[in-house]
Amino acid sequence: MLTLLILGGTSEARELAAAIAPRDGVHLVSTLAGRVSDPRLPAGEVRIGGFGGVDGLASWLRSHDVSAIIDATHPFAARISASAASAAQLVGVPLLMLRRSGWSPVPGDNWHWVTSLDEAAHSLPPGRVFLTTGRQGLLFFADSDRWFLIRCVDPPPPPLPAHHRLLLARGPYTVDGELTLMRDHRIDVLVTKDSGGPYTAAKLTAARTLGLPVIIVRRPTPPDVPTVATVAEALSWLDSAVA
Ligand code: NAP
Repeated sequence: MLTLLILGGTSEARELAAAIAPRDGVHLVSTLAGRVSDPRLPAGEVRIGGFGGVDGLASWLRSHDVSAIIDATHPFAARISASAASAAQLVGVPLLMLRRSGWSPVPGDNWHWVTSLDEAAHSLPPGRVFLTTGRQGLLFFADSDRWFLIRCVDPPPPPLPAHHRLLLARGPYTVDGELTLMRDHRIDVLVTKDSGGPYTAAKLTAARTLGLPVIIVRRPTPPDVPTVATVAEALSWLDSAVA
């Protein structure tokens, strides 16, 4: 019996779990950080909460006799990916990173790349801001005098900017919906991370259609581990790991 650990919290992690859970000979465990109050759960066994850093994860891998790990966490979940790389090496467990490709601008886009949320907050042009970077790191925008439409899944912790409307929502989103939202709130600039993937890409199309600038935060540098971009490639890797 192969014990496979999927580090999750993304749609790809759920797709992967759905494909693997029915297989004979695999004991699948998916893990979530526990950040979202009502998470979409993957198929199969699910464990919720952190491991306690590299040492905690390494000891979990040993005690559960894990045969392989697929890190299918979000491209901006840098700490758990770094932990996974170190713990896998420490214990000698094969690790694959499943990381969807980032977004690329197309003609008509007006994107401004930044390296951090802090830099994004200091790069805002005048006007009303659609802030879609999630609930972590909003403190960088807290001192801004701009008006913000803040969209995230769960209520963010304070401090928040003085002038804002909070919209609690979870993708996927449509281009028509994003256009309506951005027009209704008279948005002047979109701020996003380079999350990649189709589920939240409609805002970029809407910004292009409306001729709005986009401030886009670059991904953190991933650890140097074998990496694929699709669920199909991850399944092939698993097949060869099992073989
Ligand atoms: P992070 O900064 O890399 O992780 C912080 C800590 O949370 C980690 O050190 C680890 O705790 C724990 N953790 C994170 N992901 C975990 C997982 N899948 N299973 C078990 N423990 C996990 O991550 P984050 O940016 O806070 O993201 C948390 C989760 O939300 C991730 O699973 C990610 O896939 C998902 N997510 C993140 C974003 C984003 O923009 N960051 C967006 C969508 C979804 P210990 O050190 O104690 O092990």
